[in-house]
Amino acid sequence: MNTVSSLLDNEWYERYKRISKLNIRSSIYDVTNNCNLRCKGCFFFSSDEHKKSPDEPDIRKWEEFVEKEKQRGVNLAILIGGEPTLYLDRIEAFYKRLPTYCATNGIIKVPRDRFPDMMVGISVWGDEEDEKLLRGRDTFSISRKNYAGDPYTYYLYTITPKQIGKIERIIKKIADVGLKVHMQLLSNDEGVDGFSWKEQELSDLRKEMDDMLDRYPDTVISSKYYHEIITTGKMLGRTFGWSECPSVTKPLDKRNPQPKRLIEFIRWAADLKTMHRCCTSETRDCSTCKDGAAHMSWVMVNKRAHLRSTKDLQNWIEVYEMFAKLYKFIPW
Ligand code: SF4
Ligand code: SF4
Repeated sequence: MNTVSSLLDNEWYERYKRISKLNIRSSIYDVTNNCNLRCKGCFFFSSDEHKKSPDEPDIRKWEEFVEKEKQRGVNLAILIGGEPTLYLDRIEAFYKRLPTYCATNGIIKVPRDRFPDMMVGISVWGDEEDEKLLRGRDTFSISRKNYAGDPYTYYLYTITPKQIGKIERIIKKIADVGLKVHMQLLSNDEGVDGFSWKEQELSDLRKEMDDMLDRYPDTVISSKYYHEIITTGKMLGRTFGWSECPSVTKPLDKRNPQPKRLIEFIRWAADLKTMHRCCTSETRDCSTCKDGAAHMSWVMVNKRAHLRSTKDLQNWIEVYEMFAKLYKFIPW
């Protein structure tokens, strides 16, 4: 049987050792049910997850909750919503206690005197025209001004089918303000006309994403294997979906057999009691799910399956490194 050391030369083995020490245990937290936008295709609002429970208003309850999460073994808090920056005191309850990542639409700037090194991921959907259509305004122009040159910020660029052949313009704009970018694909949860994927589009997009990584290696945080996985939904001949998904909330996960999964992962609602099914939309048909983090995690939890060959294991290492960079566990 292949082992890690038998498959890797010294350089790759050192890279492997660097990530294998990390032991990342993440969970996801809805900081609030409120948002200053209402994007068409927002998984949160389109699945009515915001109606499942109210926000917990008492900041002391948030602080106690985070302490308990820490005791549960969580070492990475991923804050989403709603829009987390509407409630900086809740963000602070996490930031003071745990490595914290905050997803945002970038309209409100996280004050860096209060959160000097918190990782911030800004969403951008397609280009300025797509954003006006899907999000009601061009947030990209606002967020670029807010975060230009910030060393702890990257763009989470959600690519739509309308972007094929055009993504370089967005990547270049991000590079021009000194920020990084990670790409993922729109899942079109609200079935907006013209925004669902066709096979040929996915195949064209994969080539374009590879090209961007080759040409903007200092800006694009990605890996070609990730591009393959996210555009094909296949890994080592297996198909992504409900029976394979690693990002299902543990106490709600009654699947039998259990796939490889994120250890003790939970996605908590903003009442700090309710749990949501998974890292994204509760009502999404898993066969259409393009969630980038779920696909990345799918690779990461399946290390053993990648011991098939040197190339497979190197692919696995690159995806793990990408994840670790995005959440600040290793430098860019
Ligand atoms: S900014 Fe984010 S949370 Fe708010 S509506 Fe848009 S996608 Fe949803
Ligand atoms: S919607 Fe996506 S992330 Fe959620 S359970 Fe289905 S495959 Fe997993």
